[in-house]
Amino acid sequence: MKITFLGTGTSLGVPIIGCSCETCNSKDPRDKRLRTSCYVQTGDYHFLIDIGPDFRQQMLREKISKIDFVLITHEHNDHIAGIDDIRPFNFMQNQSINFYCNDRVYHDLISKYDYIFKENKYPGSPSINLKPILYDEAMYLEELNIVPILLMHGKIDILGYRIGKMAYLTDISSISSEELSKLQGIEVLIISALRKESHHSHINLSQAIDIYQSTSASRCYLIHLSHHYPCHEALQSELPSGVFAAYDGMSIGVTKM
Ligand SMILES: [Zn+2]
Ligand SMILES: [Zn+2]
Ligand SMILES: [Zn+2]
Repeated sequence: MKITFLGTGTSLGVPIIGCSCETCNSKDPRDKRLRTSCYVQTGDYHFLIDIGPDFRQQMLREKISKIDFVLITHEHNDHIAGIDDIRPFNFMQNQSINFYCNDRVYHDLISKYDYIFKENKYPGSPSINLKPILYDEAMYLEELNIVPILLMHGKIDILGYRIGKMAYLTDISSISSEELSKLQGIEVLIISALRKESHHSHINLSQAIDIYQSTSASRCYLIHLSHHYPCHEALQSELPSGVFAAYDGMSIGVTKM
């Protein structure tokens, strides 16, 4: 299984418009962080986790031409705003694309993007089958076993996903011990770590490292990173062994099952 980090930045991206801090001014391409999302290739399946506002640019950069389905973590703009740009995939693949999300996100997407989901819609608008999933129900798509993980993100419940030996937890502020037990046996943890300081709806760096160290994972990749961190190289040198600051365009291999 191959995972490509399409974006690794927080909701404003890095650099932030108008900001002249050291990280935003960095010349290192690894400090250019689009909004967080990833692309997973396993066997014949190619899919996305989240489809943020930089989706079009990410698809062009990675030369991606196939998306079988999309897993949505939650309805915040930085995770869904690329939805209209799914159209080229509708045209290329000549099919609707399934989007999986929790029940609240299902209703939210229908009201935000009514032009996509109403009857008699304008010809050429995106063709999406929204599929609500329950957090305590694993999905079986052919040989893929995808386990939704219930996370808290401030006051809302959102979904993380376990796919084989990898778990992807973004925008997490807390996880119950019961949900944490679903991560047993993973090799790779991909987890958001907004910044070093605490935040009401995101864990910080030390909390992310604590969660990683409580799992069986031998590698941890940090995502959803803000400009409050030092430049990539300085950040990486501060991290414990096995913990990596992911960057846009990075790809990693993970055992599938
Ligand atoms: Zn976010
Ligand atoms: Zn900045
Ligand atoms: Zn969010």
